[in-house]
Amino acid sequence: MKIFKDPLKLQKWAKAQSKAGQKIALVPTMGYLHEGHLSLIEKAKAMKADEIIVSVFVNPVQFGPNEDYEKYPRDEKADLAKCKAAGATAILFPTPANMYLDRHSVYVTEEDLSKGLCGARRPGHFRGVCTVVAKLFNLAHADFAVFGQKDYQQAQIIKRMVRDLNFDLKIVVAPIVREPSGLARSSRNTYLSAEEKDRALALSRSLKSVTVGKSVKSEQARIVKALEQSGLQVDYVEFVDGETLDPVKKTAKGVCVLLAVFDGKTRLIDNRVL
Ligand code: AMP
Repeated sequence: MKIFKDPLKLQKWAKAQSKAGQKIALVPTMGYLHEGHLSLIEKAKAMKADEIIVSVFVNPVQFGPNEDYEKYPRDEKADLAKCKAAGATAILFPTPANMYLDRHSVYVTEEDLSKGLCGARRPGHFRGVCTVVAKLFNLAHADFAVFGQKDYQQAQIIKRMVRDLNFDLKIVVAPIVREPSGLARSSRNTYLSAEEKDRALALSRSLKSVTVGKSVKSEQARIVKALEQSGLQVDYVEFVDGETLDPVKKTAKGVCVLLAVFDGKTRLIDNRVL
């Protein structure tokens, strides 16, 4: 497995691979890899990529001033071993200084899908995500990039960015990987105490309980109540069209239910497409 620190060195190598006719997959991550991330590498393998590039970068631009950028878990050594074992062929570990050069001043903003949900609660978050992902697309010369449904809004925004800015690659979205308990795997789960982890089960439980043909208003109220009764602080419970992310009034096939809560100090998200 090739290890790159310098994004431009990766770019040179990836360009040569692409020219030689190799099929390249990109898997962007913030590291502290778990089964969810590894499933994206598996997906790239299943899609017959010759080269699988995993990027590991805790992107400062997508964190708000009061968020967890500093304390976000990091473990380069473990990430390297996991990528290698999973079959990645290259890994990029850039630093903020070599991703954002002095006087970096160009950003990518998506202005429709990022208005609501996490975009409304985390101002600037998706501007940071789109900017770093656009940079990674330009660096990796990938034929396709794999993202997780875990970050549903993010995946929709990236697809829109690819469409609207004519990036020449396909976006593949892989299903949410959960712990046996139902809890969606996340690097941020390491923040949770045993008690908090227990409470967090209310997320997947609530999502499972939603059925089609119901009024969203009553379903929303029911789920907010269930989450609060479990000791979680609700950030949002939304029912949206799975493509446009516009709010809907009735639960139906294709509707996406998205949840964000605070479990103690930790913000958790989860979702389900009906
Ligand atoms: P992160 O490192 O949390 O920024 O995530 C990197 C990529 O892995 C994103 O495309 C996420 O949606 C995806 N991902 C994170 N957790 C999971 C999970 N539990 N199941 C599937 N994909 C995931």
